[in-house]
Amino acid sequence: MRAARPRPESSPRRIPPARDSIPPAFAIVIATVQPTVLNAFTVDVEDYFQVSSFERVVVRSQWGEFESRVVANTQRLLDLLGSRGVRGTFFILGWVADRFPQLLRDIHAAGHELACHSYWHRLVYDQTADEFRSDLRRAKQAIEDAAGCPVTAYRAPSFSITRRSLWALEILVEEGFTLDSSVFPTRHDRYGIPGAEARLHRLQTPAGPIWEFPLAIRSLGPWQLPVSGGGYFRLYPFAWTRWSLAGLNHMGRPFSFYVHPWEVDPQQPRIAGASRLSRFRHYVNLATTESKLGRLLASFRFGTMAEVLAEQAHVPDAIAPERAGMAALAQ
Ligand SMILES: [Zn+2]
Repeated sequence: MRAARPRPESSPRRIPPARDSIPPAFAIVIATVQPTVLNAFTVDVEDYFQVSSFERVVVRSQWGEFESRVVANTQRLLDLLGSRGVRGTFFILGWVADRFPQLLRDIHAAGHELACHSYWHRLVYDQTADEFRSDLRRAKQAIEDAAGCPVTAYRAPSFSITRRSLWALEILVEEGFTLDSSVFPTRHDRYGIPGAEARLHRLQTPAGPIWEFPLAIRSLGPWQLPVSGGGYFRLYPFAWTRWSLAGLNHMGRPFSFYVHPWEVDPQQPRIAGASRLSRFRHYVNLATTESKLGRLLASFRFGTMAEVLAEQAHVPDAIAPERAGMAALAQ
C-alpha cells in the first residue's frame, strides 16, 4: 500500500484550467449530453395549408387549389438528413401519398422509415370509430401503394389520441399497426394526456399489444414541459431544447423529435382568416428552424423509430413496464 505523500506547505494547490469562457449553464449542458442513446427523428409530412391550426379556414375539398410546397420542403429535410447521415421516420398524409408518390419513393430510397399520418388530417376525437378506421385504411393503402413497403407505425394529426379517443389504439392494432406515436403527456387545448407514461412502452389493448412512443416532455417540478419539436422547438432557444433533451438521454431514455416540412419554409404563402394564436403557432421563428435542426442533428444520435425500438428493447429501464391495460392512460 502506497503512503500518501504529504504536500509541501509551499506547493500551491493545483487549479484546473479556467473555463470562464463557458457560462455554468452551458457547462452543465456539455456535461449531460449522452451521445450514446439513439433517439427517433420524425417528420410529419403535410403541406402548410393542411395543419389543424388552419382547419377552420381551409376547407379540405379545396386543398388541391393551394400552391403545394410539400415536395420541395420535404426534399430540403431529406438533404439535411442525408448530409448528416441520419435516417428518420416519415409520418405521411395519405392525401400527399396519392398526389406525390415519387416523393415517397425518394424518402424510402434514402433509407428512411415510412409511416402513417392519416389521410385527411382529421382530429381523431372528432371522428367516429368507423370514420377513423376507414380514413386509416385509405391512408395506409395509399402510402404502401406509393412506396411499395409495409406501413406499421402511426401518428395522429395533432397528437389527437387523448382520453376521449383511446379507442383508436385498439383499431390501430386491428389494422396491423405495431407502433403509435400520438400520446403527448402534457396539457394543451387540442391534445395531450397529462400524467401519461412519458417513456417508450408497450400498451395492451383489447385487440393486442402496441408500442407507444410518446412525444418528449421534460419534468421540472410540477411542470411537464413539451420539448419534442415543432412549435416548441421554434419558440425555445436552442440551448434550452438541447439541455432538456440531453437530460432525457442522461437518464438513459430515448426521445422522439418531430418537425414538419413547412417549418423550413419561411416563404410559404400566408393563410388568411386564421386566429392570432394559430398564426403565432404556425409562423413563429420559421426562418431559424433549418439552422437549429442542423445543430440538433450534430448534438444527438438519431435514427428511425424502428431502430430505436430495436436498440432500446434490451436496455434495462429505457422502456417503461408494460401496461396491463389502457387504464393508466384513461385515469
Ligand atoms: Zn400533422
